[in-house]
Formats: sequence, structure tokens, C-alpha cells
Amino acid sequence: MKLIFFGPPGAGKGTIAQQILNKYKIIQISTGDMFRENIKNQTEIGVTAKEYIDKGELVPDEVTITMLKNRIENDDCKNGFILDGFPRNIPQAQALDNSDVEIDRVIYFTVPADLIIHRLSGRRSCKQCNKVYNINPDGFPNPKVENKCDVCNIDLFQRADDIPATIKDRLDIYREQTEPLAEYYEKQGKLKKVNADGEIQRIIDDTINAIEN
Ligand code: AMP
Repeated sequence: MKLIFFGPPGAGKGTIAQQILNKYKIIQISTGDMFRENIKNQTEIGVTAKEYIDKGELVPDEVTITMLKNRIENDDCKNGFILDGFPRNIPQAQALDNSDVEIDRVIYFTVPADLIIHRLSGRRSCKQCNKVYNINPDGFPNPKVENKCDVCNIDLFQRADDIPATIKDRLDIYREQTEPLAEYYEKQGKLKKVNADGEIQRIIDDTINAIEN
């Protein structure tokens, strides 16, 4: 099963992916996580990516596409995967179409703009295990102890690109470059919409439904 999860930043793509990976015995591939890992390890990709990520801009296609193509050739992708955060524009989608990979479904998570800002401002992560939390009272998942990772018990941190000024730039780029993917995949007959505003279990159920029907 090869899936694309797409939608605005803060739609909960990564969180929902985490909840259904085991069911399908597939893995999640987040290009954002891959870039953050490269930045942490100060690789060449990391140095390039940081410049763009800090400004809320997209990392250039040649870097992103090569990194993603190399990643999906790994053995752990044989059973399938969820692409979370890729493709982010039409050229990336075309590059994927021109590779050997056949995508089964594209799940489009929709959320109102005011909810995106609210969710992103509450998002926190663990530096050690990368688990993502939401500290808003209505967020998911809330850490069990305030501002601590449930697993590592260390302080959570806020991503530098989740501050209001950068969020606005990321949303503009999303609307201009990423949203046209809905029409692109609709034409291919692969697009399924999920309303990502509401109770987590309902969103998970709707996602499974969208994948299977
Ligand atoms: P994310 O974790 O998906 O929100 O991604 C964080 C940042 O990484 C984005 O704002 C971009 O700067 C960069 N990024 C992630 N995925 C891509 C992609 N497919 N193409 C270009 N830039 C990306």
C-alpha cells in the first residue's frame, strides 16, 4: 500500500499516519523529519535545507526529489509507505509519477485556516525521539506531564518554523504550490478527502475508510 497524505501544515497528517501504520504494516516517510535529521547531523543536505526551512520556504526540488527517491528504494519501503509532506508541488508529483512507484491513494486532509494556526502554535516535539505532541487543551496527543515527553521525560521544544510569522509564509506557499495537487490527483482518480477538524478517532476512521473504499 503506497499512500500520500497531503494537506496544510497542522492538518495532522503525521499524527494520523502514526495511528494507522501498524494496521497496514507500512512506514511513514516525512520529508520534513528527514530534513530536520539532516540539520541535526549537519550534513550537506541539512545545511542547504536549513536556509529554506527557517524562512518557511520549500527546499529546492532537486535536493528534495533526490533525497526522497533514494529513501523509497530502501528495503523497509517494500511493503508500502505513507508519504507525509511529499509531494509539495506539481514538479515533485510529476517526478514521482515518472519513477517506478505507483501510488494507490492520495488522502487530502482539510481544515479551516483558523484551526491551523491554533494547532501549530500548540505543537511541541521531543528532540530525542521526535514524538510530536500538542499542548493545547483540545490538542492531540497531550503530554501526560506538562511539557515533557511521555517516553523520554525531557522538555519538549517548539519548532522554529511554528512561530506566527513563519506559519503565515508556510500557509501562503501551501496555497500557491501545494493545494493545486488536489486537482492533479483528482484527475488521476486517486484523491480522497478527509475532514481533519474534529474528534481524533472519527478522523482515523474516515482515513481508513478513504484508504479502503
Ligand atoms: P514539515 O515537517 O512537513 O512541516 O516540513 C517542514 C519544512 O521542511 C517545510 O516548511 C519545508 O521547508 C521543508 N520541506 C518538507 N518537505 C518538503 C518538500 N516535499 N519539498 C520542499 N520542502 C519541504
